[in-house]
Amino acid sequence: MVKEDFPILQDIVYLDNAATTQKPLQVIEAIRNYYLLHNANIHRGVYPLARKSTDLYEEAHRVVAGFIGARAEEVVFVRNTTEGLNLASHLLEPLVRAGDNIVVTISEHHSNLLPWWRLARRRGARLRIGMVREDGSIDEEDVISKIDESTRIVAVQHASNVTGYITDVRKIVKQAKKVGAVVVLDGAQSVPHVPIDVNGLGVDILAFSGHKMLGPMGIGVLWARKEILEEAEPFLLGGDMIKEVHYTNGEIVPLWNELPWKFEAGTPNVAGAVGLMEAIRYLERFGMEKILPHEKKLATATAEGLEDMGFNVIGGERRGGVVAFWKEDIDPHLLAYRLGQKKVCVRSGYHCAQPLHEVLEVRGSIRASFYLYNDEDDVERFFEALREVVR
Ligand code: PMP
Repeated sequence: MVKEDFPILQDIVYLDNAATTQKPLQVIEAIRNYYLLHNANIHRGVYPLARKSTDLYEEAHRVVAGFIGARAEEVVFVRNTTEGLNLASHLLEPLVRAGDNIVVTISEHHSNLLPWWRLARRRGARLRIGMVREDGSIDEEDVISKIDESTRIVAVQHASNVTGYITDVRKIVKQAKKVGAVVVLDGAQSVPHVPIDVNGLGVDILAFSGHKMLGPMGIGVLWARKEILEEAEPFLLGGDMIKEVHYTNGEIVPLWNELPWKFEAGTPNVAGAVGLMEAIRYLERFGMEKILPHEKKLATATAEGLEDMGFNVIGGERRGGVVAFWKEDIDPHLLAYRLGQKKVCVRSGYHCAQPLHEVLEVRGSIRASFYLYNDEDDVERFFEALREVVR
């Protein structure tokens, strides 16, 4: 019984999992224990408490690496997907020259759109934008058609936060590799929901957030191939990212630390890393392969019920565990507000994907997004509340 691990769910129907997920008791307990029993700064003290804290932090890197089929030295802890993608755009900046292009899609979350837009502007490159099919899913063929010899970076979402659609990454990677472009994957909506193997996918960089996968807020991951991390310049400079700093002949001469510490300057979020590690253990006990089929079943039933009520639903057959819907004469925020009064939590607006809404000609939608702890009872209570509100 998963729901019992989430006290907050006893009273509400929580369908805003694409924004953030709830945290199980096990994760909260792990964070509490860390602060009660193991708190010390890492990589600094030689006393046992500092060693223990360091060990936990390094173990978290290994657990995350194992979860995505990567090496621990390639796992950089950041705050969230947004920070990971911004850091990725910094790492790749030297690759881009005037006249080059960067390929994204119209379906991107603003976090995987604006850093590339800025990088293109800074370097005199062009941003090329792959389109979506009528149902809002990424049109992989259109993305592929935008990739050519001048493409340096292809940055795409692995799963949409509006439809849950899982992009056929391998097709895009194949084309990108033909022209030597780096592939950046926004895994914010996929890593929490499907098993991930970065090598199987063939991508070069992956970013995701701990808070969307039962972990705490304030911890996220940037995974990048070792060669990229070795070559790139760190973004934040200071403590812990440095091995030595010399004062030689009147000059300061720094020597960067080993991977991944080179990219983790300053005191990190150790408790967050411990919480994320516990979240991953929870997900693995549940079974990663079970999550998306479970959500999809609930989302499909929800989409059908909504269509029966006369709502337009974005996503069609290709949806994942997310249902965004709208109706001409219904204000999304007002509807979400009224549902909230009935203890049903859904998101309203553009969900940080305004360009997608614009090409679909939808002026804002309401979004119900599912996770492993949701069940048929939640769907029923959602419709009960919705019918009352609409009436
Ligand atoms: N990309 C996608 C597809 C997302 O859904 C989100 C969160 N809504 C993000 C990026 C950004 O995640 P965060 O807010 O944790 O940085």
